[in-house]
Amino acid sequence: ADYSYTPAGRNHLFVPGPVNIHDRVLRAMNVPGQNHRDPWFAAFFKDVLADSKYVFQTQAGTPFIFSGTGTGGWEAALTNTLSPGDKIVTFRYGQFSHLWIDMMQRMGLDVTVIDRPWGEGADEAILQDILAKDKDKKIKAVAVVHNETTTGVTSDIKGVRAAMDAASHPALLLVDGVSSIGALEFKFDEWRVDVAVTGSQKALSLPTGLALVCASDKALDHMKTAKLPRCYYDFADQLKTNPAGSTPYTPSLSMLYGLKESIAMLKAEGMDNVVARHHRLAEGTRKAVEGWGLELLCAHPRWRSDSLTVIKTPQGIDSNKIVKHAYSRYNLSIGIGLSQVNGKVFRIGHLGNMDELMMCSAISGAEMAMIDSGMKIKPGSGIGPAIQYWQETAKVIPTRE
Ligand code: PLP
Repeated sequence: ADYSYTPAGRNHLFVPGPVNIHDRVLRAMNVPGQNHRDPWFAAFFKDVLADSKYVFQTQAGTPFIFSGTGTGGWEAALTNTLSPGDKIVTFRYGQFSHLWIDMMQRMGLDVTVIDRPWGEGADEAILQDILAKDKDKKIKAVAVVHNETTTGVTSDIKGVRAAMDAASHPALLLVDGVSSIGALEFKFDEWRVDVAVTGSQKALSLPTGLALVCASDKALDHMKTAKLPRCYYDFADQLKTNPAGSTPYTPSLSMLYGLKESIAMLKAEGMDNVVARHHRLAEGTRKAVEGWGLELLCAHPRWRSDSLTVIKTPQGIDSNKIVKHAYSRYNLSIGIGLSQVNGKVFRIGHLGNMDELMMCSAISGAEMAMIDSGMKIKPGSGIGPAIQYWQETAKVIPTRE
């Protein structure tokens, strides 16, 4: 394939990360090489760190910005708080929770895995039962993937915290917020999360390359005795340098400029509005799925994700073909099904820098690709209900009323 050929128009990017980067953010990142040891950097970096607290909705937490990806953030969360052989309880309901478990096991943690069907979320009652039976409080941490990007399932972190409280359990709460933070409601302080993780290419709508991590005081306390080997992701090295506005190693300046701009946009919109926008985009997408006569992989309405929609294709229809066709004929990038649901589902991301009319291109393109692939779908049956919903619910841009 000739990778250098660029079709006219644009690539319609609707995978659940990496997502569309706003022109304003692209411009902010377009800077010449600069020296992060020059005097201007300290004030700038302190501002970026302070801003990043907004993303986590925290006052009390300590944010860390690493060059890396979400997976690096997972590593930071585990290695800074736990020791070899420590007991950790976690759920597996998709490829990302699976990969985090794989990391926990490779690090020598003693992992209790609660396997749930792919399409379900964190079952609070099972967790509570396990914690309540741990009379000697041997379990050191509970880890939960907030939004499972494999299945389009959002678990209830507030509910998980309530289950931990109901069992009066002191374990740390570690949360993967990679495809939720900055898109869905996420309350670091209120839910008493101990370590939260996200990656720049998701709701923050930046290129891939930053892992943002936030730690509670309790987590930082655990750091003092945590014995898992750590080096690059050691919070302690950041804590020695960040307060004075410097970093232990070379920061990615372009990414930091982009982050500052992206958070400025989130702040201007307001997190409640950001969350409401994601809900509208998701609801419209779900109307389309209903109109097509298809089903979500997410088993129960309580867990429906507002950051992506995962759609089951009927028996005998290979979802990979739809995804490939959408890309080759309509320049639309949608997500394939991962691992055990490969070929059975496709994924439409609606997180980050996204609006209703952009979504119309994804819904129309998916509809056309499904028809092309031999599915009995009436043209307009999905996009029709979606546009009706968005026409009724879209908000006037505040500065343009
Ligand atoms: N966790 C979730 C929920 C994800 O969706 C992803 C990536 O898609 C990851 C973790 C891994 O992040 P990264 O690929 O940035 O390392």
